[in-house]
Parts: sequence; structure tokens; C-alpha cells
Amino acid sequence: MTTEKEVIHGYTLHGNRYLNVSNRCNLYCHFCPRMDNDWNVKGYELALKNEPTAAELIAAAGDISEHHEIVFCGLGEPTIRLETIIEVGRALKAQGARIRLNTNGLGNQYHQRDITPELEGIVDVLSISLNAQNAEIFEKHCLPRKENSYQALLDFVDCAKQHIADISLTAVDGLEGVDIKACEQIARNLGVKFRGRLLDEVG
Ligand code: SF4
Repeated sequence: MTTEKEVIHGYTLHGNRYLNVSNRCNLYCHFCPRMDNDWNVKGYELALKNEPTAAELIAAAGDISEHHEIVFCGLGEPTIRLETIIEVGRALKAQGARIRLNTNGLGNQYHQRDITPELEGIVDVLSISLNAQNAEIFEKHCLPRKENSYQALLDFVDCAKQHIADISLTAVDGLEGVDIKACEQIARNLGVKFRGRLLDEVG
């Protein structure tokens, strides 16, 4: 007899509650477990049969008072489901949640408009995967399907600064050709924070 695998809409790590918004993504990073069809992150099986509804995500957030942050995450890119994260974010803010969005920074490119004003008052903290110090290294590791994606990411940071006070760029330490110091300098030049990450680290 086969048993149905549990579908995980929310998971707890580091005192934060992560919401598994989508398995879709507009990048194809070779270091992403998705690319090997491996959906296990820190013991959580994050493959979704169907993307969770707003009500399911709100339920998955659980008791807000038990978590430092509620994080829109995946395994996938949450801004692909912009309307849903806005609806869920608004409901959770009303409960007093502090909300972080983990994103690849290509939401504006994907939606072909500036989505950052829609995040104001909903997203408190924005964590954006910069991943590389230039377009060449970014394209090597993240395999964007659209041209000028690296510039689109940098432009997204500029737009987001007008609406969200706490922004960090991240890059994975140890990836071939990635110069962490240069990535940090880009963040400094943009006036935002920087955090080096380890491969397979969720945070
Ligand atoms: S942006 Fe994130 S979810 Fe998308 S492929 Fe890269 S690592 Fe995976």
C-alpha cells in the first residue's frame, strides 16, 4: 500500500516560518536542488502538487507570535505569485507579523512592470539573491532565459529601495568565479546590506 507524501506549505527553520509559495522559477541556477529534481530542504520535502491558495498559506503560517519572521520562499520564486503574496502578506501583517520576501530579484522583469510599490507596507525585509558580481558570472550560474537579467535584478534593487527599508543582497560563497567581496561592494554601492551564504543554506 502506498502512502501519500505530506505536502508542505510551511516549514520552520531558525525561528522563522517559511511559506512554500511556488515551485516555479524564472531562473535555472545549476546549484539549485530543483534542477536535480531534489525537493528536500533541511528534511522538508517541498515538492508541491498544486500551489497553495492564499487561505492555505495563511493557515500554514500558524501562530504568528511563535515566529520571528514569516518568509515568502519556495522552493521556487514567490514573486511569480504576486497577487497571492500580497493577499497573504496583508492578512499576516494585520496579525502583527514581520514579513520577509526571499526573491531572485526578477519580479519586475517577469511581470513587465515595477511591482515594488505593491510590496510597500506588506514586506518588511527583502532578501535578494545577487549571486554574482557581473552579468557573465550570473548567466553562467543562474541560466536566465531572458536577456539583460542581471541588469534587471540591479534595477529591481533600485526600485525596491523606494518602498522597503531593509534590503539585503546575498551571494553563495564558494561558487566558481563568484567574488564575494565584489558582490558585497555592489551592495554597498547600492546602499543596501550584504550577506554571504553557504551552498544549500536556507535563510
Ligand atoms: S532563483 Fe532560487 S529557486 Fe530559482 S533556480 Fe535559482 S536557486 Fe532555485
